[in-house]
Amino acid sequence: MESRAVVLTSLGAPRPYVESRPLEVRTLHLDPPGPGELLVRVEAAGVCHSDLSVVNGDRPRPVPMALGHEAAGVVEEVGAGVGDVAVGDRVVLVFVPSCGSCPECSSGSPALCRRGAASNTAGELLRGGRRWGDGVHHHLGVSAFAERVVVDRGSAVVVPPEVPGEVAALFGCALLTGVGAVENTVTVRPGDTAVVLGLGGVGLAAVMGAAQAGATTLVAVDPVPEKRALALELGATHAVAPGPDAVAEVRDLTGGGARYAVECVGHEAVMADAFAMTARGGTTVAVGLPHPSRQLVLPALQLIAEARTLVGSYMGSASPQRDVPRLVALWQQGRLPVERLRSGTTDLEGLPAAMDALADGTAVRQLVIP
Ligand SMILES: [Zn+2]
Ligand SMILES: [Zn+2]
Repeated sequence: MESRAVVLTSLGAPRPYVESRPLEVRTLHLDPPGPGELLVRVEAAGVCHSDLSVVNGDRPRPVPMALGHEAAGVVEEVGAGVGDVAVGDRVVLVFVPSCGSCPECSSGSPALCRRGAASNTAGELLRGGRRWGDGVHHHLGVSAFAERVVVDRGSAVVVPPEVPGEVAALFGCALLTGVGAVENTVTVRPGDTAVVLGLGGVGLAAVMGAAQAGATTLVAVDPVPEKRALALELGATHAVAPGPDAVAEVRDLTGGGARYAVECVGHEAVMADAFAMTARGGTTVAVGLPHPSRQLVLPALQLIAEARTLVGSYMGSASPQRDVPRLVALWQQGRLPVERLRSGTTDLEGLPAAMDALADGTAVRQLVIP
């Protein structure tokens, strides 16, 4: 069959992308789903900073690539051997397909699936090869900015049919990553103090997750006033602009340093600030993805003498088949107001402009409706 999709043709094009045009809407050939795979009609896809990191060259990936990794849709065809997903099911697509049998999957860390990481790096599906024609690669096993996609069964989580696709889409990356960071990677408990640095979709999801978990002092840090205001509405108790005084301000607000500091920017200087904002015995959770050439420098003595911890968190240390339905249930109860993260809707043709808005720092979560 054929499917329209947004194809990234080159890395590191100059901004604005509406003028340099590294993203093209193309009609591509799409193979039917193979064994263990699904054909999904995409209902909605979120525009995430990790997409921008591929476009701007921070996360080098093979091109041409059908971009996008946060989406929800409806299953239209089921490949051989898939017994637990049916045509018509609504699914959330997740950006690490898990094989279920590698050492990492076997030890309970499907977010670190070894085979999933290898196929994602190659721009292929989990079982190998590509289903797009014309030499086009898959993005993180999803390729969300498309009308239809073929994905591995391990990239999909079935959710209740009454959850709208436009809501469900955000659970695949923003919610899984942000909430997972504060409840899987570390476990925020009632009465804890926490600070979240960087208020995009993932950072605001971390704010929602920490508030939901009972953090009583919850500081949100971002240069954009509108994002700080939104964080306060989503459960942050304080909002702070970054700057030379931010570390002292956060340490003061949290009574001498936060139990947890969650870095969602992906910049080594912000990671060092996050570390400096933690209390003795506190933990820095690094969520944002820095450029691969970056090195992180920390005060080594503090790490030991103050028993601090630095931990990386990929895809919220999540087990998607367990966590997505659980987070969706919290949304259904009104306890995770995911809709508040949305900032505008566009179509496939509007993606370059949406990518420019994201790069400007003004957008939280724009949705593409193919
Ligand atoms: Zn993402
Ligand atoms: Zn695995």
